[in-house]
Amino acid sequence: MPIKEIECYNCGTKLKKKVLESINISENPRQKKEIIQGKINFSYCPECKTKISHKTHILLSYLDPPRWIWLVDKKHQNPRYQEEFFRSIVPESYSGLINQEMVFVEFGEQCDCLNFILDNKQPQNSNDWLNLGKILTGEKAIECFKKALRLDQTLAEAKKLLNDELDKLKSHS
Ligand SMILES: [Zn+2]
Repeated sequence: MPIKEIECYNCGTKLKKKVLESINISENPRQKKEIIQGKINFSYCPECKTKISHKTHILLSYLDPPRWIWLVDKKHQNPRYQEEFFRSIVPESYSGLINQEMVFVEFGEQCDCLNFILDNKQPQNSNDWLNLGKILTGEKAIECFKKALRLDQTLAEAKKLLNDELDKLKSHS
């Protein structure tokens, strides 16, 4: 892991940290637990104790079949960021060849519904669909909120988030 200098965005203190760029989950299956428990990619500032993300995104990869999951800081959760990211950061030669997904998390916080993404499994109840939608953006999030509502039409939060996400897509195009 490369050592990089990170600056606390609250007080400006500089920290030297080993910064993780990517995790190959096929080779390190045990790291899955750490990822779900939110134990990667952050430190606390030694001066002001603010939680600092080391990087805005970490690549999680599977080898067979090839699958890339970008774990991105929650503050970027919107369809535009995702689209721009896939267009600019991912090398052209890879796009289309590898199944890529983007998931938005608060680094340092546990996120149980990451399980569905990492194991490539579908939720079985409305709340899990709702929670899964909350870590995605764009069409993928919309699909999750719709599935949650299909199982439970009274789920007001899913209705609200579905409309919010549709608005984001509209304002974007
Ligand atoms: Zn600080």
